[in-house]
Amino acid sequence: MASDFVIVYHRQPYEEVIEDGKTTFRENASPNGIVPTLKSFFGNADHGAWVAWKLADDPANPDFERIVEIDDAYGSYTVSRLPLTKQQVSSFYHVSSKEAFWPILHSFKDRYNYDPVDWPTFREVNWAFAEAAAREASKGARVWVHDYNLWLVPGYLRQLRPDVVISFFHHTPFPSADMFNVLPWRKEIVESLLACDVIGFHIPRYAANFLSVARSLLDVSVVERQPVDPDLIFEGTALSERSAPKLISYQDRTISISSSAVGVAVDFIEERANDPEVKQDAQAIKDSMGDGKLIVSVGRTDYTKGGMEQLESLERVLEANPRLIGKVRLMHVSVSANRNMTSYQAIQSGIEEAAGRINGRFGTLEWQPIALISRAIPFDDLIKYYLAADVAWITPLADGMNLVCKEYVAARTDNDGVLVLSEFAGAAVELSSAIITNPFSSRSMDQAILQALDMPAEERHERMGALRRMVKRFSVKAWGATQEAEFESAVLRRG
Ligand code: UDP
Repeated sequence: MASDFVIVYHRQPYEEVIEDGKTTFRENASPNGIVPTLKSFFGNADHGAWVAWKLADDPANPDFERIVEIDDAYGSYTVSRLPLTKQQVSSFYHVSSKEAFWPILHSFKDRYNYDPVDWPTFREVNWAFAEAAAREASKGARVWVHDYNLWLVPGYLRQLRPDVVISFFHHTPFPSADMFNVLPWRKEIVESLLACDVIGFHIPRYAANFLSVARSLLDVSVVERQPVDPDLIFEGTALSERSAPKLISYQDRTISISSSAVGVAVDFIEERANDPEVKQDAQAIKDSMGDGKLIVSVGRTDYTKGGMEQLESLERVLEANPRLIGKVRLMHVSVSANRNMTSYQAIQSGIEEAAGRINGRFGTLEWQPIALISRAIPFDDLIKYYLAADVAWITPLADGMNLVCKEYVAARTDNDGVLVLSEFAGAAVELSSAIITNPFSSRSMDQAILQALDMPAEERHERMGALRRMVKRFSVKAWGATQEAEFESAVLRRG
């Protein structure tokens, strides 16, 4: 059955579990991820489809179940699974995407690794995604493509299906032309993106950067600019912009550029945070701290997350402030998502070494300043730590958005707790009531955490109240609504 709404996302929209030799499809364990929000779009469609990849030993094996029909809380939809070999996944995902694109997207030129990139495989995989989407889409269907590892899909899809409406959302930062143009495939990528009807970014800065890149390579003109919402302008953050491109034109087409930040499922998080059992467990964590303060830091192990810089800041702060010895603990959760990649192993080892050194320098039998956790914590447990923590210390060097800081705020139904946030996280544009810090400056980092630890109750409540208003306003539901509206306008523009 052809679908009037097609999502193209590298991951499948469920967890595939094998029980007693039988495959079952389960709802994703984390209800907070982006997947449920994307699936909720199927509610407005006559029929939906989702295109993703699935590992296959032999893609030609006729037993590979390419199409599965799902019927769940979101309706019934088709999942089209592309059989990719281990080698294809490694080349397209772990090498091209993570070693070449990821460092450039996050402005780490020196980590860019060109040599192992196999561009023909990247094209081939993207072509396969586009073909699958073209097969599923009904006439004039809306097709929503996600993230940089599918950069070439819009261009291919436009060749195959000029009739469909294509929207593309970037979940990462988008860098300026000086950085992006390091990629030798820049023109091919940008031309593909310009085949879209809508190109979406989290914040106006990324949209502005995209325009600067497109103009550096092609004859793109701005049709309409838009002032940025005054609530998103704050002099103190590096990522603030005062206006943003809204409509651009290339060749004979008009393309909408949208800036809309992904948020969190506020209602769900609040409900979990208000659960009596969750509250009780959070209180027990607090009690175990005695008169000491708990700082939490949660993220993936990645050089962009600034884990090392944070641990070094704690070391300096403890050295300069002996009053904090025995009185502060940092729960540093650094989860390795890419264990098989050597560059990530090195970061993990660096963090383990630093945490060990700091614990060795300042710790006693009864007290250790750092609890380092390298395994993923279930979301329900994370909420307990969010509730118990005096401070959330979220200081990435670069981050498209950062959802952990928004989750912390959403969980604080008690209106307490302090958020220290890097000005290089996209979320800082909305969350200017946090203590905003620059993770590239030791002084700024050290001052920020000290200010957070010493903050009086009245100021904590005031700031948290303001943060909560923003997190509620820019929830994941609000993001979904703006994306829906973008599709509607694109359909109208096409007439
Ligand atoms: N997360 C989790 N358990 C952990 C660490 C992280 O469930 O131990 C979740 C966290 O709640 C958040 C997501 O992983 O929803 C991380 O999203 P974010 O945007 O902060 O960072 P990303 O990893 O996407 O760069």
